[in-house]
Amino acid sequence: MVEADRLRALRDLNLLDTSPCESFDRITRMASLLFSAPISAISLTDENRQWFKSRVGCGPEIPRYKAPCAEVTRIADVLVVPDLTKDCRFEGGYLADNGIRFYAGAPLTTRDGFTLGSMCVLDTKPRMSAKVEDAAALKDLAAMVMAQIELQHSLGRIDPASGLPNRNQFAEDVEDMALDYPHEERVAVLFDLVDPARLAQAMRVLGPRCLDELIHNALKALKQRLSPAALYQVGASQFVAILAGHHDESDHGLLVAQFEHLKREAAAAGLAAMAGVAIGIATFRLGEMDPAELLRSAHAAAQDARQSETGVSRYCPATNAVHERNFELIAGLREALTGAEQLTLVYQPTVNLRSGECDGAEALLRWRHPVLGDISPAEFVPLAEQTELAKPLTALVVDTALKQSAAWHREGLQLRVSVNVSAANLEEETFASGVIAALRRHGVLPSRLKVEFTESALITQRALVLKNLGKLRDAGISCAIDDFGTGYSSFSYLQDIPADTIKIDKSFIQRIEHSSRDRSLVTNIIKMASELGFRVVAEGVETRKVYDFLRETQCSAVQGYLISRPLPADDLMGWLAAWQPLGSQTSAA
Ligand code: C2E
Ligand code: CA
Ligand code: CA
Repeated sequence: MVEADRLRALRDLNLLDTSPCESFDRITRMASLLFSAPISAISLTDENRQWFKSRVGCGPEIPRYKAPCAEVTRIADVLVVPDLTKDCRFEGGYLADNGIRFYAGAPLTTRDGFTLGSMCVLDTKPRMSAKVEDAAALKDLAAMVMAQIELQHSLGRIDPASGLPNRNQFAEDVEDMALDYPHEERVAVLFDLVDPARLAQAMRVLGPRCLDELIHNALKALKQRLSPAALYQVGASQFVAILAGHHDESDHGLLVAQFEHLKREAAAAGLAAMAGVAIGIATFRLGEMDPAELLRSAHAAAQDARQSETGVSRYCPATNAVHERNFELIAGLREALTGAEQLTLVYQPTVNLRSGECDGAEALLRWRHPVLGDISPAEFVPLAEQTELAKPLTALVVDTALKQSAAWHREGLQLRVSVNVSAANLEEETFASGVIAALRRHGVLPSRLKVEFTESALITQRALVLKNLGKLRDAGISCAIDDFGTGYSSFSYLQDIPADTIKIDKSFIQRIEHSSRDRSLVTNIIKMASELGFRVVAEGVETRKVYDFLRETQCSAVQGYLISRPLPADDLMGWLAAWQPLGSQTSAA
């Protein structure tokens, strides 16, 4: 037996240098009593020491050199030494030098045949007449120690409900496989039995037993289909199997077919919830991927599978990179919102087409991530909207914009500032009252604020959203429907919305120049919206031609790079001072 393998087996058990434990101490106490020995120990043979997992009457460890326990490990058999001082193998060793005379030890041997150390009893007096029964009793005690070690070891490796090996065992097995078959290809298949949302619902209505039954039946089907591969339980309703490699596209199809079959079977057995199974597949080479990383990939693939038609998906690094970035951005945004001054507002002026003067400015968020640099709001705002961050983000925008508005007012500027709000904000019961309170706090008139929202806000909680908008309007705050034309825009419902302005999305405005179809579309939007009493603002105006066209079609105001890019608050003052209304092109020429 190679010593390195033995040491690895010992260390894998995670016993060395752990705290004392009653279930082991019970055995050493019994040994002392049984043998009337002042000293007893469960002694593990480490590289250079004997370390005692449990001990009576001695210190925590002794050197391995000339230790009788080390000899037990070497010979893997019972050793009885009547007098250590009279045995050349041990005289001069730590024990003999410290007054120990008698030693008896039985090997602690694993199922795999590794001897970890010795179950031993010691005495300060020599014992010249050791009996055969003593050896047998010592062996029994050693067996009890091993049973306890195995029990403790398996506890962390077996799922108590399903009896299947768990995530720890999975990691260990993958590592073992890598030693035997380095660099061979394998496939990890993760079965996520139930959609987490549906599981939560079922638990709520039916209680946790519904999951037990589902898992029991699903496992039966899975085991049949996957044997001889082992199944591991890696989550409440998630199981993984490692299959042989070389799964090309046709095998992928085979897996899908298997899965479909499984679903049909489940449906026939009345397991409707099994319809929610998602299968994630991750191909890997043994020893080239950390088991935790492998499991993460399989989970990621299973999550993607939830969105796919077949319910089966393969791990895709590109998709994964997107998720990783999104995850990082959300974490970074949470941090940014605690006030590290990464988030700022820039202001883009709008110009009234009748007077040619600036009549307001839209506040737009800017985020400089400490590592990733500038992040576009078009990327991070939609992410924030999926989390609880939508609320503090908009609160920050409203607060900053109103503070700026108050500052402009002190400088004699009567600008109306627009802020963009998300659907999630308008679905907050207290959103409107919060905005009204912020106006008061900053001493800003309601007529100096405009709230922009998109039609998407009206899809889910329509009643609640309309209530908030109604409150804002009643308080005298202007409301604008943003990105008009990109959603489900229909004039028939416009009247129900408490808004006074529509902003035509830049995608239409930018096409005006080259498409007569878009020209007539925009003309009609402006005409109809005006007839319904809306102000119409066009965003994304980049050229003089488009500007003139919009002025002719009676659009109310424009915003875009032709007028100005979004500017830091301080620069906006300078811009305003320099701004010269654009005359009509014919007179300018
Ligand atoms: P949006 O509300 O439609 O804002 C207009 C976007 O068009 C802004 O992009 C603006 O910089 C850009 N833009 C303005 N004039 C022109 C032009 O002439 N040509 C072109 N090509 N683009 C122009 P930005 O600042 O990157 O914002 C993108 C989107 O992010 C915004 O679209 C808005 O939906 C969202 N957003 C920005 N700030 C906030 C915020 O504070 N809260 C929320 N909820 N959303 C925000
Ligand atoms: Ca906007
Ligand atoms: Ca837009």
